[in-house]
Amino acid sequence: MMSDKDSQTQEKVFDAETASSLVKELRKNFGSGRTRSYEWRVSQVKALLKAMVDNEDQIVDALRSDLAKPSLETVVYEIGMFKSSCEVILKELKHWMTPEKVKTSIKTFPSSAEIVPEPLGVVLVISPWNYPILLTLEPVVGAIAAGNAVVLKPSEIAPATSSLLAKLIEKYMDHSFVRVVQGAVDEATALLQQKWDKIFYTGNGRVGRIVMTAAAKHLTPVLLELGGKSPVVVDSNINLQVAARRIISGKWGLNSGQTCISPDYAITTKDYAPTLVDTLKTELQECYGKNPLESEDLSRIVSSNHFARLSKLLNDDKVSGKIVYGGEKDENKLRIAPTILLDVPRDSLIMGEEIFGPLLPIITVNKIEESLDVINSGEKALAAYVFTTDEKFKELFVRNVSAGGLLVNDTTVHLLVDTLPFGGVGESGMGAYHGKFSFDAFTHKKAVLYRSFAGDSSSRYPPYTDTKQRL
Ligand code: NAD
Repeated sequence: MMSDKDSQTQEKVFDAETASSLVKELRKNFGSGRTRSYEWRVSQVKALLKAMVDNEDQIVDALRSDLAKPSLETVVYEIGMFKSSCEVILKELKHWMTPEKVKTSIKTFPSSAEIVPEPLGVVLVISPWNYPILLTLEPVVGAIAAGNAVVLKPSEIAPATSSLLAKLIEKYMDHSFVRVVQGAVDEATALLQQKWDKIFYTGNGRVGRIVMTAAAKHLTPVLLELGGKSPVVVDSNINLQVAARRIISGKWGLNSGQTCISPDYAITTKDYAPTLVDTLKTELQECYGKNPLESEDLSRIVSSNHFARLSKLLNDDKVSGKIVYGGEKDENKLRIAPTILLDVPRDSLIMGEEIFGPLLPIITVNKIEESLDVINSGEKALAAYVFTTDEKFKELFVRNVSAGGLLVNDTTVHLLVDTLPFGGVGESGMGAYHGKFSFDAFTHKKAVLYRSFAGDSSSRYPPYTDTKQRL
């Protein structure tokens, strides 16, 4: 963990001037052309993989310290998923880097053309605290695979993991091209004042706007991975036990709901709601026992600020009497039990913001089709889920709901499919990554047309006679 002394020293040292020299240095290094080679890119991806393998225990400890994250969640969803991404890159990179031959036009005959992928240059990655390994290294490895130099600013809210990452990157990666700047708003602001070739930001929409405003000054493109209120619609014609377990896995199993694609709230019919609540209760007890505050399988809330924010959502008068399960809290340990609220009003605080915690409000409608109106009356979410066996409703949902990604009959696992782009739309972000999409996110597709001196037609040159115009 970064000591107070270290962090004070860094706060003093890292200002806009230091940020500017850092970018200048990396830009100069990038100019050497070294990052463009296949060999450099592969060596760096392998170095990151090795850093994960060699230091798994330390990573598990850091995440336990930051979030009380169960080791299985760290090993599977942080390290494991990151390793899979690296393996895909190592398998496919040569192919991704190969220029793509494309057809040309009769108007340029004779000619040939290709799209040449080239790195953007020096890029900035700003990452959040909730998956401080995966959401930090996944964009970094994408940027490296695409041949860029990278500066990473991990989140100060996961200090143990951020400081470990800084050490590992320093130890394992090529220091000429990959750097970490630890710190908070001041450091991020100093970095954002610089001219980058791309900024990849993951976090909330308020800061997303700050990032985009800073980027606009330099015409820097941005990829914003934001959040939102991801709905889960539960129809009545389903295997409810499986559905309930899959909702639990996405809502509580992943970091106690502190996951960008966690189901934020559920929608079901008035008639079916009691059955849904009963099954969720039974399955929650199976997963976390009678005293979930003591369960080691449930992450804690990341900070006292977030604990207070979630408590405020529960204390709102508009939801008083709506808690049908859970509600217990332990402020000292920053723990909140899995909590279900039934029939919450749409103008309550809990329905007014992304919950990002272990609270699941349920909205009820008369007919399941009305769930689409509820969803479409809000901002576009990062994910939307539906549990149904009704083909017509499934189709209606897929055609009419706009979100970063949709998933039918499960929650969150669309993230595991690297042939699908992962990213938001509207308020949930812009741009996408994962698999080849990560490579593309940090690559310029350069159009190149080749001509020879043959076939030179005089019709394009002045004088522009009537005959030439008719050609
Ligand atoms: P956070 O507080 O860690 O902030 C993210 C980053 O922004 C940090 O590195 C932080 O230092 C930096 N930052 C904070 N204030 C800043 C400022 N004023 N200027 C510049 N940089 C600043 O994380 P968070 O925002 O609490 O993360 C949670 C949010 O992120 C949720 O909305 C969640 O849905 C979203 N999220 C999205 C994804 C995704 O993949 N789309 C993944 C995880 C989280």
